[in-house]
Amino acid sequence: MPTLATSFVQEPDFIKGLYILSFALFIYGLSQLTGPRTAVRGNRIAAAGMLIAVVATLLSPDAGEWVLMAIGLVIGTIVGVPAARSVRMTAMPQMVALFNGVGGGAVALIAWAEFRAEDGFAATSLAVVIPTLFGCVIGSISFWGSLVAFAKLQELLPGRPITLGRVQQLLSVLLLVVAVGASVLIATGSTTEEIAFIAILVSAALLGLFMVLPIGGADMPVVISLLNAFTGLSAAATGIALDNTSLIVAGMIVGASGTILTNLMAAAMNRSIPNIIAGGFGGGGTVAAGGGAAGLPEGATVRSTSAADAAIQLSYARQVVIVPGYGLAVAQAQHAVRELARELEKRGVEVKYAIHPVAGRMPGHMNVLLAEADVPYDQLKEMDDINPEFPRTDVALVIGANDVTNPAANSSPDSPIYGMPILEVNKSDSVIVIKRSMSPGFAGIDNELYYDEKTSMLFGDAKGAVGEITGEVQAL
Ligand code: NAP
Repeated sequence: MPTLATSFVQEPDFIKGLYILSFALFIYGLSQLTGPRTAVRGNRIAAAGMLIAVVATLLSPDAGEWVLMAIGLVIGTIVGVPAARSVRMTAMPQMVALFNGVGGGAVALIAWAEFRAEDGFAATSLAVVIPTLFGCVIGSISFWGSLVAFAKLQELLPGRPITLGRVQQLLSVLLLVVAVGASVLIATGSTTEEIAFIAILVSAALLGLFMVLPIGGADMPVVISLLNAFTGLSAAATGIALDNTSLIVAGMIVGASGTILTNLMAAAMNRSIPNIIAGGFGGGGTVAAGGGAAGLPEGATVRSTSAADAAIQLSYARQVVIVPGYGLAVAQAQHAVRELARELEKRGVEVKYAIHPVAGRMPGHMNVLLAEADVPYDQLKEMDDINPEFPRTDVALVIGANDVTNPAANSSPDSPIYGMPILEVNKSDSVIVIKRSMSPGFAGIDNELYYDEKTSMLFGDAKGAVGEITGEVQAL
């Protein structure tokens, strides 16, 4: 089987050196992504590592078709750079889905190209055939699954679970049998017919569609992270088949970090990955609104407030904790929030920000937004650090956050979010919540916090409402 790169051992020394440098940069870059202060630098370092790996592959004696690769690089750059530059922060999950899916698709196509180039795998060693076919199946599942995830998040497909019921499970089993069966036939040399390979591609494609279509749009960030891990594993498998060490290392890093991230997100929502894959949570109406409000007192009422009253409450506080959520991201209110915090600090108020691990729609969403508005990093407090501070907080200002503050997660065993760790804002002396209506958040359930007697609601768009409060604070 021809390889895109010769074995690592046979590479010239300077190419080996470049690869080792790139691996070191990947790993160092990744280690820098653990905190907002170093994350941007970490991203650049890892990107430099990838550039070096690409250059090393091109300089390798067996690099192959330079012109074709140059055309691929140009097309990728023309599509990728403007897309990444123009994407809104709230649309980042679907962009990651698309880029990730393309990686899986590339792996499947490489496998197919190798199969065609060799006229079947009858004469190829099993050590190459098995990872090639594994990469092909997983890469194809990841490509098609990621396209569905993209379409759901972009609202090109309905966000609700789409399922064929029990038939779908039977079909999935059948498709798996076809994919594995055709792989065995090819691997054992029983067939060299291209139709068998196409059967693998088609059955894996349908498996990818059937895997993601039944999952509600709201669970897509976790699914994308899972598919990301799949793509990493398929790329690593292709690296083994092509004897390309760089692809093995990069693929394994993506596979491992995607798996860890998926687990962390599931743990932060107190849900298991099988429960997420089974669908039916926050899928656009699958959980009845009010479903988590079983603990609401009879005739519970909501108290609304005005920007002027909120300004007085905030200005005379000693400590204010700002709790940002998805609504802050949608409204792009981060700069307005920073401005309000500056005004309060001028008056001697201590301002901190409480960051829940899954506030927003992707991990680190709030950190990125607040960093963009130059919020000092030492004011950003992780959930475990800020929760003990709420009992000595005068005002918790909740801006476009909902589920991550819902006390039902601690108190209502019937609630779908029971057990999810939350920001315990209800322990503050008073709470002001900015949102547009009483609509539920991601999980589709009521929030007991809004009916608490120490809570007042300021209804409006986050950016506008925060701006109004700032104006009132300045006028005091
Ligand atoms: P949330 O529970 O989805 O609530 C967001 C709230 O923002 C909504 O109730 C909405 O109420 C309000 N809102 C929307 N647009 C607004 C605007 N322009 N101005 C003001 N308010 C606005 O958000 P969250 O508290 O951040 O919780 C995140 C949820 O996402 C969790 O359930 C988490 O499990 C889930 N999730 C997160 C991740 C992740 O990695 N971060 C991944 C998967 C799932 P109105 O419509 O009334 O304004």
